[in-house]
Order: sequence, then structure tokens, then C-alpha cells
Amino acid sequence: GAPLLQASGVRKAFGKTRALKQADVQIHAGEIVAVMGPSGSGKSTLLHCLAGILVPDEGAVVYDGRRVDRLDEEQRSALRRTDFGFVFQFGQLLGELTVLENVALPLLLNGVKRGEAMARAGQWLETFGLIELGRRRPHEVSGGQAQRTAIARAMATSPKVIFADEPTGSLDSAAGLLVLDSFTSVAQSHGVAIVLVTHESRVAAYATRTIVVRDGVVATPTAVEPSR
Ligand code: ADP
Ligand code: ADP
Repeated sequence: GAPLLQASGVRKAFGKTRALKQADVQIHAGEIVAVMGPSGSGKSTLLHCLAGILVPDEGAVVYDGRRVDRLDEEQRSALRRTDFGFVFQFGQLLGELTVLENVALPLLLNGVKRGEAMARAGQWLETFGLIELGRRRPHEVSGGQAQRTAIARAMATSPKVIFADEPTGSLDSAAGLLVLDSFTSVAQSHGVAIVLVTHESRVAAYATRTIVVRDGVVATPTAVEPSR
């Protein structure tokens, strides 16, 4: 079928730094795509262009038949809130809210009434085995529990795509594996596409596909130059 999300000939520079020189990527529903490559190669820039956070200088980003790169800031913000979810390495939960309230927040921001938002947030906590922690504050849970809370929060608005930038980067391997299992389960049971930036091959092993970014260019793994 048609890809859910596609970048064609995408380029992005910051001043003289050509962060992304050529990106052609297709992502389908239910896929977990690992984006790998050395530090500074353009992985985050690619993720931000796909997610409508950055606007490319050239090329097209098409989501569900829509040209994301042609939307204005307000339209892109609305698209991110309704169709996309985000999980980052650190500091994404609000410390003054409980775990349950953190998961409910995107629903409240989307206009869902408080009672329903809390009920749906509780269901997501249940799904991720976190229901016992709902009344705690983020600093009262482990790093892995906080990351799974972040995934629950990203799922709360039923997005079609989740963008995750080094989501296990701050975790030990056992906690990281639980986070990766959570991604696998939402991809399989909800058909969510997951775009996962990582430099760890053990993380990429959980992906259904890996794309490699080198020096601003997206290459397939087979096109990677052999080491000399
Ligand atoms: P990666 O995620 O692979 O580490 P990035 O996409 O973050 O790579 O960065 C690619 C290049 O673009 C790097 O040289 C980085 O310093 C530069 N860059 C990224 N974001 C910005 C920015 N907002 N302003 C200036 N340079 C940036
Ligand atoms: P709002 O319009 O409600 O303030 P934003 O449009 O700023 O929300 O953000 C929508 C989503 O995009 C959020 O989930 C946020 O985490 C993500 N996001 C916004 N800006 C950035 C950024 N610079 N880098 C990464 N993610 C971002």
C-alpha cells in the first residue's frame, strides 16, 4: 500500500551546515523503523522534518496524502497534536503532575473532558503495567517506568506515528528492553508506525527495518561502505 509517511528529496541546512543533504524515506503503518548513523549525521534533523517540527529547505514530506512541508506553523502544530506522538530521552514528564495526569495531559489539551481523559489515561497505564504508579510524581518512579509513562502519554491521543529520539539512551539494558517491548506492542496491536532514532544496534534489533544516515545522506544498510 501507499506509505503513511514519506520524505522525498528532503534537504535541510542550518546556516552553512548541510545537516540533511538528501533524504528519501517511506514509512508504513505498523513498521518500527530504526534510524541509525553516527553522531551529527542528521538523524534528528530527519526525524524533525518527518514530524513537521522543522520545514525542509527542499523536497516533500507527505503524511496521509498531505504535504506537511506546505502547512503553516499552526497547522503543523495541530497535526503533531492529533496524529503524532513524541518520546525523547529525558525530561519529558511534568514534575508537578502525577504519572496519571501526565498521561491525561495531551487529551486535556485536545479538549477531552477531565473525567474521560483520566479514564483513558488509566487504561493506557494499565496497558503498560504502570497502573500502580498513577498517583506518583515522575521523580518517584524509575527511569524505565518514566519512559514507559512517556510512551503511554504519546499513545493517549491515539496517534498514527510515534517519533522517538534515543528513547532508551538513559536506561540500563533491562529497563530499555521493557521500553522496546512497549513500542513493539503498540506497533503490533494498534498499527502505529514508530520512527526510532538510535545509535545502539541492540535497539535497532527490535525494528522491522533500519535506515542509516551518513553525513546527511540516507542510505540503505546494504549501501553502507565497508570499513577499510
Ligand atoms: P544526529 O541526530 O545524527 O546527531 P543532527 O541532525 O542533530 O544529527 O545534526 C546534524 C548536523 O546539523 C550537525 O552538524 C549539527 O550540529 C547540525 N545542527 C542540528 N541542529 C542544528 C541547529 N538547530 N542549528 C545549527 N546546527 C544544527
Ligand atoms: P503546543 O502547540 O501545544 O504548544 P507544540 O506544537 O509545541 O505544542 O508541540 C507539539 C508536539 O511536538 C509535542 O508533543 C512536542 O513534544 C513536539 N515538539 C514541539 N517542538 C519540538 C522540538 N523542537 N523538538 C522536538 N519535539 C518538539
